[in-house]
Amino acid sequence: MSQASTPYSADSGTSPPEDEAPLRRIYHFGNGEADGDASMVQVLGGKGANLAEMSKMGLPVPCGFTLTTDLCAYYHAHDNTLPPDLRTDIEAAIKKLEAETKAEFGDNKNPLLLSVRSGAPSSMPGMMDTVLNLGLNDETVHALAAHFNDTRFAWDSYRRFLQLYGDVVMGVSHDRFEDILDDYKLEKKLDSDSDFTAQDWQHICAAFRDAIGEDTGQAFPQSPSEQLWAAVSAVFASWHNPRAITYRRLQNIAESPGTAVTIQAMVFGNLSGDSATGVAFTRNPSTGQARVFGEFLPNAQGEDIVSGIRTPLHITKEARLGSSMREPSLEESMPETFSQLCDVFAQLEARFHDMQDIEFTIQQGALFILQTRDGKRTTRAGLKIAADMVGEGILTQDEAVMRLDPISLEQLLHPTLDPNAKYEIIVKGLPASPGAASGKVAFTAAQAEERAGRGEDVILLRSETTPEDIHGMYAAQGILTSRGGMTSHAAVVARGLGRPCICGATSIQIDLEKGTALLGKHRLVEGDIITIDGSTGNVMAGKVATLEAELSGDFAKLMAWADAHRTLEIRANAETPMDAARARRLGAEGIGLVRTEHMFFDPERLFNLRLLLLSQNPTQERKAMDTLEPAQREDFAKLFKEMAGHPITIRLLDPPIHEFLPTPHDDITDLADALDMTERSLRSKIEGLQEVNPMLGHRGSRLGLTMPQIYEMQLRALFAARQDSAPAPDAPPIEIMFPLIMAGQELAQLCEMTQNIAREVKAREGDYIIGSMIEVPRAALVADQLAAHAVFFSFGTNDLTQTTLALSRDDAGRFLGDYTSRAILAADPFRTLDIDGVGSLMKIAVAKARSVRPDIKLGLCGEHGGDPQSIRFCHALGFDYVSCSPYRVPIARLAAAQAALLAAKSS
Ligand code: PEP
Ligand code: MG
Repeated sequence: MSQASTPYSADSGTSPPEDEAPLRRIYHFGNGEADGDASMVQVLGGKGANLAEMSKMGLPVPCGFTLTTDLCAYYHAHDNTLPPDLRTDIEAAIKKLEAETKAEFGDNKNPLLLSVRSGAPSSMPGMMDTVLNLGLNDETVHALAAHFNDTRFAWDSYRRFLQLYGDVVMGVSHDRFEDILDDYKLEKKLDSDSDFTAQDWQHICAAFRDAIGEDTGQAFPQSPSEQLWAAVSAVFASWHNPRAITYRRLQNIAESPGTAVTIQAMVFGNLSGDSATGVAFTRNPSTGQARVFGEFLPNAQGEDIVSGIRTPLHITKEARLGSSMREPSLEESMPETFSQLCDVFAQLEARFHDMQDIEFTIQQGALFILQTRDGKRTTRAGLKIAADMVGEGILTQDEAVMRLDPISLEQLLHPTLDPNAKYEIIVKGLPASPGAASGKVAFTAAQAEERAGRGEDVILLRSETTPEDIHGMYAAQGILTSRGGMTSHAAVVARGLGRPCICGATSIQIDLEKGTALLGKHRLVEGDIITIDGSTGNVMAGKVATLEAELSGDFAKLMAWADAHRTLEIRANAETPMDAARARRLGAEGIGLVRTEHMFFDPERLFNLRLLLLSQNPTQERKAMDTLEPAQREDFAKLFKEMAGHPITIRLLDPPIHEFLPTPHDDITDLADALDMTERSLRSKIEGLQEVNPMLGHRGSRLGLTMPQIYEMQLRALFAARQDSAPAPDAPPIEIMFPLIMAGQELAQLCEMTQNIAREVKAREGDYIIGSMIEVPRAALVADQLAAHAVFFSFGTNDLTQTTLALSRDDAGRFLGDYTSRAILAADPFRTLDIDGVGSLMKIAVAKARSVRPDIKLGLCGEHGGDPQSIRFCHALGFDYVSCSPYRVPIARLAAAQAALLAAKSS
């Protein structure tokens, strides 16, 4: 067959020039051979590439071929059409498949049936479409029945095909088919699908065909070739269905190149009692335990497991004994196939160096592997698997460090139930994704999203979830379902999103119409609060107290391996001793930003700060200072004690003045009294201090220089606290930092102020150093002038992003989503550093600063300090540290280690 087929260009729609190599667009696999391999994920998608690899490994893979992701790009660039000459290539590929399987597509004796599956480079479970049993029609169904001598199987397969094809290709709603099935069951008093006879399924097939005709005005196509062409197009089209688009956005998956489509000879798990379909992980994806973990259904096809329609059985005897299930596990019912499966698992782990998630089918005792991919797992499982695989010699320590996704560590910081809390368990389900969460019950994804939008914590309670629920799952704190197993949609997606999840809590009955649910004896209405513990499967009424997670075990081990490679110091942004202690627990090596304004939130302090800002005379100023200064001194002393021996960067007051002043609605009687003013004149004074554009106004060091009483008070408190805390002789100096600097002279005058106060309070030489924040473009552009006065720079990339992009950090959220989805901005620049813009300014600043002070210490303390991509950039610029929120410290440690390992690899 012509695998290297007619060339085309996906971008322009024209054929490439004569001398360009034609793009190959069909890749075969099967019978121990394959055109592609595991490295071709971008071209063949994860599924196609790994099927090719497994075929080459000699594993039992049904024969097939993969249409490349380029064709997906072509399809969407050409008004949802495929290259017309692809038909000829597909026909040739089918001929080859017919020869390999000894069956014929559309044949009336031994018909070849096909599966048509999507498979993108990044796994997107359940988000795109699949069609099974393609090639069946009113005639081949009889041939299938005769060939396998099983009429019921043939009609069951046909009704599955009609339903999938009708839904995916012809756009008939899934519910339409389900309603027909439900009505039929009711009429014939049938409990479940397994009670259906061949005649029942035949009847259902006719009803499904009629429904397709009625709803679409088109007959269901009998021609297998036409079915195939339309199914391939529909699967390519499903790359752009709303749930796939949402999933890509949430998971940060690139829009290009698109999905590949794999066409494979069908194998049948619904053929007989010794046939089955299953999903298995080579290790436990929840705990990481090195034991085969999975579920299977005898006499079923793949979709039955994932949809949670039937409760699946365990794969291992151990898992069955640990549950209340009576039906035998695969290990017990088909011991030989089970041991063959375990052998395949070992080979796959050795080849892919990771835990695998596998789909398999057993047809009359013969095992077939339909898919393998790196398994999604909880973060805790990921750490255990990485640590164990180092122990087993499958991975090196470096590979284990590189393997982990830094952002996923957030999951470990999920709270657990406080063991001292009293609670009543109202129902139990399967512990599908760990962590405890409380929230108000929402029965639909839309309700969940709406409540979350109002700032409420939500638990999404559904009978089962479908890909359409993804936005509600994302919005919810936790997910609870009454149906489905550990590999159901809800479980897989929740683990990926890091949401606590309980599945299959079968004693829950939901009445969607009434908006109520019965959880055991408890009746809930929408908005009632419950707590779920995804680690145990327990559901509790009301809110239960939780505890923060600790860094220990495998987490600590991996972090230690990461730290060995890291060159960036990781600090935290913290103001209170409690935050500082948390940061230390999570491995922070210092504090990179104390936002001193946060120390004035207490009402009494705020009152005195207002007095200081609005004082009419030195006596009032003194009075305010006399309360504020000791309070600040005590705050600083506590912080110094908590962080003994570690560096601390104290930033003097930063925000615009109006943030501290009373609003027009506040009662100002006491303040007016203290200032000896009438309320009216005080209001007019406050009004006079309001600014049109406060973020670019009287804030930061501008305030410090023009109203020096504030900074002077802070500096005195700082030096006194240093003396109070009696630091060890080798204690690092206090790093005093000035915000929103824009000129060398500004910094020079602030240095002078600092030195004067230091002299006045007899601060010791070496007690402090002075640094500048780089938060406005001009500061970056005159960094050499600033470096003449500053021994360190800390890039305040929140403000630097705001001022460089002229994008208000407080308002941009309203439209940034639009900008990222239209690819105007690659990512939210307040989360991930805008390397092209802000990054260019940073490069200029670093070069200029080093030209006058080669050893200048460089750090970053904006939100980007906890973002892996931004951390990589800081590493490349040779920064000394990044500083982030305490909870992000482990993420930053790992990301910094990965940056160092990557840099070492590429040098
Ligand atoms: C910054 O602007 O990046 C910064 C750290 O300061 P703040 O967020 O307090 O303005
Ligand atoms: Mg700032």
